[in-house]
Parts: sequence; structure tokens; C-alpha cells
Amino acid sequence: QFHTIKYEDLKWDESLGQGSFTRIFKGEKTDYRDGEKHTTEVLLKELDPDHKNCWESFFEAASFMSQISHKHLLHVYGVSVHGDKNIMVQEFVKHGALDLYLKREKSLSVSWKLNVAKQLACVLNFLEEQSIIHGNICAKNLLLVREEDPSQGISPFIKLSDPGINVAMLGKDVIMHRIPWIAPESLAAPDNLTHECDKWSFGATVWEIFNNGNPPLQDNTKPHVFYENKQQLPPSQWTELADLIGQCMSYDLAFRPSCRSIIRQLNSLVTSGNNDDHTVFDERY
Ligand code: ATP
Ligand code: MG
Repeated sequence: QFHTIKYEDLKWDESLGQGSFTRIFKGEKTDYRDGEKHTTEVLLKELDPDHKNCWESFFEAASFMSQISHKHLLHVYGVSVHGDKNIMVQEFVKHGALDLYLKREKSLSVSWKLNVAKQLACVLNFLEEQSIIHGNICAKNLLLVREEDPSQGISPFIKLSDPGINVAMLGKDVIMHRIPWIAPESLAAPDNLTHECDKWSFGATVWEIFNNGNPPLQDNTKPHVFYENKQQLPPSQWTELADLIGQCMSYDLAFRPSCRSIIRQLNSLVTSGNNDDHTVFDERY
């Protein structure tokens, strides 16, 4: 069902830290094609031994990621199992996670942000066409393959990473940390993910992109209270953008837009030629 990679063909380099249930390393994968040796730079995601009971869910993510292909979807080469080690072998992305990049590069232009939001909408649409629900869309799970270089006419380029372990397997405490990315209806029914859940997460991610990777909830906000009170994130001053995010993050699933509508709205944002700073007005920032 998915490609397995021999543990001996993997080389482990420096640690890149930890994910939710993973240890992350840079590495290399060796292939022998036509008697020739090829090496590829890879990212190795090893499932935390404390969560090894989640391996099926972890491999399920690896499986769907390796079976479909889209320019804005991260490539997964396969999995490797060695003793009690479960490893996902994926494409290494040079500029890393988008949330960190947004925080680092404070002065990204509105067109940069729109461009990236459109790329995410593009892969969201693709996944929906394939009847695949991602379940963990957030700026942290977007990886920056290419930086913008306006002097060369080069735009930024992102890819959506794997969702990791399914929310249905996660404890309440972990789920609380996923607010406001996780759809509110998933709190009560984490085993019933829908395309509408991904729409909500898309809205939260676009919010992050336009707010330079700042945490969406204020420090003193209790995540569950935020949802119980049906609160909304502070709206952008750019009315059309605020509208789109508001539709996606609607507590009523029926109000969340179709992918077609999302793409149409994003395209109309470009043509309006608005160049002001669209971060939300908030004394925190
Ligand atoms: P989750 O399932 O919650 O997304 P995870 O195991 O995917 O957890 P992340 O927190 O998403 O881990 O990623 C941790 C860090 O690893 C990121 O901040 C990023 O810097 C780096 N990283 C992840 N994937 C890649 C990749 N394919 N290429 C380069 N760096 C990556
Ligand atoms: Mg991730």
C-alpha cells in the first residue's frame, strides 16, 4: 500500500527538533537505480516511542500523502520500520515551516500573503476533489520551498505537509492546543472529520498568514471558552478578507464556502489592488 524504505538506506543527520508526537531529523536516502547509487536529501519523522500505539494512524497519513501528487502537497517517499522505530521519509524543504518564517520576516507584502493563501486554496481544492480530508491545516504545516525574489520575478512557493496522527486518536489536552485551527464541531466528534473541518482550518491559517504568524488567541483566552462562546478572531481591516475568513470560520457548517467560492474570493482580492497593511488592528501587535 505504501513504499517501504530499508532502514539501512537511511542516513541520519542533525536533529531539527520535535513535532507533536515526533522527532525530526534531516537525513539522506540512498537508492540504487541501474546499478548506480543516488542520494536524496530527506526529512525523517520518527514517531515518538511513547505514542507507538498510534503507528497505524501515522502510517495512514504517510500512505495518502505518497499516493497522490500535487505541486503544493509535500512529497512523502515512504515509511521505514526498524525494531520499534516508525519513520516517515519525506521531501526536505529548505526554508522550513511557514509559521516560523512569517514570524522571522516581518515585512512580507500583501501580495506575498495572498499568493501563499491562493496556493493553499489550490491544494485544498485538489484534496476535496480527491475526497481526502487533511485534518491538520495550519501555518506550521505549510513548508516554504522557495522564497520570493521580486528582482527575478520569482514568487514564494509552499507545500502542505502531512497531518500526522488523526485527531480521533488525540487526548483532550492536545486538542485544546489545536484551537482555533481545529473546527469547533470536532471537539465533540473528533472521529467525524469533514471537508468543512478543513475549511475552518483554512480560514484560521489564512488569518495566521495575514497576521505574520502571530498566535491567533490572546494569552488570557481559554481555548474551550473561545469556542463555547462562539467567538471569532479579530477581523482584518480589509473587509473582503475578513469576510472570507469569517465564512470559513463560521460555527454553522452550512455557511462555510465551497473551494470554488474561496478561490473566486481570493482572486477578486488581487484585482482590487489593495496595498495597505491588512494585519488586524490590535494593540498586541
Ligand atoms: P504535527 O503532526 O503536529 O504537524 P509534526 O511531527 O509534523 O507535528 P511539526 O511541528 O509540524 O511536526 O514540524 C516541526 C518542525 O520541523 C517544523 O517547524 C519545521 O521547521 C520542521 N519540518 C517539518 N517538516 C519539514 C520538511 N519536510 N522539511 C524541512 N523541515 C521540516
Ligand atoms: Mg507537521
